[in-house]
Order: sequence, then C-alpha cells, then structure tokens
Amino acid sequence: MERWPIGVFTSLDAGLGVRMDVVSELKIPTIHLHSPHQGARDEQRAKEFLAQCEQAGTTVTCVFCGSEGESYADIETTARTVGLVPEEFRAARAADARVTAQFARYLGCDTLGMHIGFVPQDRESETYLDLVKVTQSLLDDLAENGQKLHLETGQETADHLLEFISDVGRDNLFINFDPANMILYGTGDPIEALKKVGKYVKSVHCKDATWAEESVRGKEWGCEVPLGEGDVNMRLYLETLKEIGYDGPLTIEREIPEDREKQKADISKAITLLEQLRSEILGG
Ligand code: MG
Repeated sequence: MERWPIGVFTSLDAGLGVRMDVVSELKIPTIHLHSPHQGARDEQRAKEFLAQCEQAGTTVTCVFCGSEGESYADIETTARTVGLVPEEFRAARAADARVTAQFARYLGCDTLGMHIGFVPQDRESETYLDLVKVTQSLLDDLAENGQKLHLETGQETADHLLEFISDVGRDNLFINFDPANMILYGTGDPIEALKKVGKYVKSVHCKDATWAEESVRGKEWGCEVPLGEGDVNMRLYLETLKEIGYDGPLTIEREIPEDREKQKADISKAITLLEQLRSEILGG
C-alpha cells in the first residue's frame, strides 16, 4: 500500500460515518468501519460487506467498537455513557468489543478501534485498577486472534493516556490519533499531544474543529468543521505525522450524518486538500 493512502470513516447501520456509496463514488481506497449493530455482526453479513468493499475497491483498516446506549450528545453525557469506563456498562461493553473483534476477523481486519471513555484520573482508585484489568483481559483475547486495539484520543490528556497505556502494559495496545477531539474535548494542543504519544500512533483521523470559549472549554464541545477550516492546522498535522514516522492511512472523519449531501461534499474537498498536502510534504 502507498504511504498515507486516503481513508474515510464509514457506517453501515450505526455511527456517524459516510455510507458505502460515497466510498465507491469518491474511490476512497481505505476505510475505518463503525461496528454495525450487535445483531448484524455475523459471518454472513461480513461476507456481504466484503463483497461490497471489493466492488468499491476499498479495504477495511480498522473496525471501531460502538455499543447500544452510548451517546455523544454533550461532554457530560459522553463521560457517563461511552466506552469501558462507565462501571455499570463495563462488563457488557467488554463482551460487546469481543463480538466486534470477531466481526473484524471475518473481515480479515487485525485492528479494533475504541473510545474507551474518560479514563479516571486517580491511578490508585478501584475503578481505575479494574479498568486496567478489564482492558488487559480484552487485549489478551485480541492477541490470541493476532489483533490489536487502537484507543481514540481526546477524552484525556496525552500524558494521562500514556500513563494508562503504561499501566495496562500490553504490546498490542496503540493509539488512533484524532487531532480534532483534543480540541473538541479541550484536552490539549493536538500537535503537542501528537509529538508526545507519537510512538504509539498506528492510525489517525483527519478531522478539524474549533475550540470552545476558554471559560467553558472541557465542559462544552468545541465545533467540528470541514477539514482545513478549524484550529488543527492540517499542514502542521501532516508534517508532524511525517516527523513521527507515521505511514498508515489518512482517514477523514466528517460527523454530520444529518446532512448527507454536505457530508459528501466536505469529504470530497478534504480528499483534495490531503492529496495536495501529501504530495507537498512527502514529495512525488
Ligand atoms: Mg475520531
């Protein structure tokens, strides 16, 4: 595969990604797939989807976990409902992630992505220690299938994410870096963060956003905007990816499923921008 192939975040029946017709129409060579609903992750569906991928000329490079009951309505709701962090859902979510991992296997994909949730600050707390244990157990099962897990960034600072990865201590745990999330959640400058966590970054999202007002940062969302129009600085982002030696896909995310036409148009423009920057930065 060429260096930095373009990708897009895609959804079948769940999640905020684009539909496969957009992947096909815009000839996008790689995708991250949001896990379909729990009842739709059987081998037959996987086969049907693989046939669709082949027709569209695309490859699944990461399958993202997504479970019933998760909501990104606002930061407080996200903290309460998303990932393995909320204790009331932890066991069920870990089980659900294993079902998604099996679906990824049917797709021939060795990478699972996940928003684990807002990792608790206190590294001595019972809830933190249990989260570490549950994550280790999931990673050990994934390792048996030759699979790895990429944690999505944004819900904690780069430093705390590094502490968590170190505490989990498994060599199939990596990072999916999303620069816009650092801005949306108000968890730190994305470029500085990328430099800090660089050695763990094995996949990325290309998404842009503007900061919330300083007084409400971290409590209220910033605003997701079309690629190149936000505060990430896409040129510097790609230059930094080059600096850390990243060579995987550039996976565009545009999370406005309520306006499919604009979503497609914004993704088309994002491809043009990324291809231009890629040729300027990598040469050729
Ligand atoms: Mg993302």
